[in-house]
Amino acid sequence: MKKIEHIGIAVKDLDAANEVYAKLLQTESYKTEKVKSEGVETSFFKVGDSKIELLAATSEDSAIAKFLEKRGEGIHHIAYEVADIKAEMKRLKEEGFELISKRPKRGADNKLIAFLHPKSANGVLVELCQEIEKEEDTIPIGDEVWEDL
Ligand code: ZN
Repeated sequence: MKKIEHIGIAVKDLDAANEVYAKLLQTESYKTEKVKSEGVETSFFKVGDSKIELLAATSEDSAIAKFLEKRGEGIHHIAYEVADIKAEMKRLKEEGFELISKRPKRGADNKLIAFLHPKSANGVLVELCQEIEKEEDTIPIGDEVWEDL
């Protein structure tokens, strides 16, 4: 793991939360992106070397909508940057961590992503993310990377 890439925060109203975080961090959101397949809209803020990702639901049956219903607004996940997401998924699986999906997906903010189940990591949803290289740039957002581990 290279560093904490970002912290994901579930919010009910993305516009309202954007205003709060712009004031808090004294910077505007640099990117807003919808991940249609996940039913989520995201907004990113830079904080030094790290980022804050605000997540709002765009459909009622999305994971974020369910999270908000159950737990309310708050920290949703911690994302760690990795150099090789497939190698890291394999390593963590061998260590007994439960992966939510078998293959990495293209997530928001130009990343390949994968999640570990919160029960594997003391109640915290863990995201692994790897910056997308040029040759992977054609993968549609929300799609899995079709390569078995
Ligand atoms: Zn994230």
